[in-house]
Amino acid sequence: MASLIREWTGIQQFPSATQTKMLELLGKLKQENVNSLTILVMGKGGVGKSSTVNSIIGERVVAVSAFQSEGPRPVMVSRSRAGFTLNVIDTPGLVEGGYVNDQALEIIKRFLLNKTIDVLLYVDRLDAYRVDNLDRQVVRAITESFGKEIWNRGLVVLTHAQLSPPDALSYEDFFSRRSEALLKVVRMGARIKKQDMQGSSIPVVLVENSGRCNKNDCDEKIVPNGTAWIPNLVKTIAEIVSNGSKGILVDKKLIEGPNPNERGKIWIPLILAFQYFFIVKRIQRAIKDDIAKESKPAWE
Ligand code: GDP
Ligand code: MG
Repeated sequence: MASLIREWTGIQQFPSATQTKMLELLGKLKQENVNSLTILVMGKGGVGKSSTVNSIIGERVVAVSAFQSEGPRPVMVSRSRAGFTLNVIDTPGLVEGGYVNDQALEIIKRFLLNKTIDVLLYVDRLDAYRVDNLDRQVVRAITESFGKEIWNRGLVVLTHAQLSPPDALSYEDFFSRRSEALLKVVRMGARIKKQDMQGSSIPVVLVENSGRCNKNDCDEKIVPNGTAWIPNLVKTIAEIVSNGSKGILVDKKLIEGPNPNERGKIWIPLILAFQYFFIVKRIQRAIKDDIAKESKPAWE
């Protein structure tokens, strides 16, 4: 493709401590022959997907809005740095009017045609206290679109990480409870059995996109547990890429999936044969028997 990919200048906006860590991580990936990464960002509306994309790139590349609903189309932002290309795909929220918006999902799938998803960021807020059936439906819709394997390449991002937990819970306790609840929903929605996880559970990463995010002595944005979150997020992404699983190639077959009208067609001859031998034959035999048994009427 001859399209010109912009230089990743946003990286220079990061404090030098973050820049050093990021370049180190990119260097490591290049050593493993990973020269490009495509990150797909999904989740419900208003959870901070677009803000997270902007935070990673270090520029305001996609629109963020508290009140408006998002545009209907996904947007891919590509940046290159020292021979490494980063693609981040921001998507519209998957929920509308209390349901998963299948049309939005369809548009996302078509947008992704012939692309390989290296990492899925499933975004939600840390400062939400409940998970419900809708969360499960969103996870199920993602799973049905891209296959269960997408979760080998998935991580959960929790935005709004700078909060004071309610009910006198410690931050760590609150974080682990919220992560556990969400991961449970992800496992249920993705129909992943606990024993299938092979100990490698889906990582959960804290994110704080707000300009009022606290900073450490190196001027890096930190979440309340003290972690500089941008390098931590990139580190977790790099670990996922190196975890031995495969990226998800979105091809025509994956997008179109098994045609529901075709599904089950192979059973039709079997069912017909069954009906013939076990039902039609039986009835015929019963009639024959009846005729044979029938004693001749007296008048004959
Ligand atoms: P999207 O609909 O998932 O793309 O969400 P946006 O990125 O557009 O964010 C929705 C609103 O939440 C905006 O007003 C953002 O400024 C705000 N927001 C997003 N992430 C954070 C965060 O980590 N902390 C805080 N305090 N606000 C956030
Ligand atoms: Mg958005």
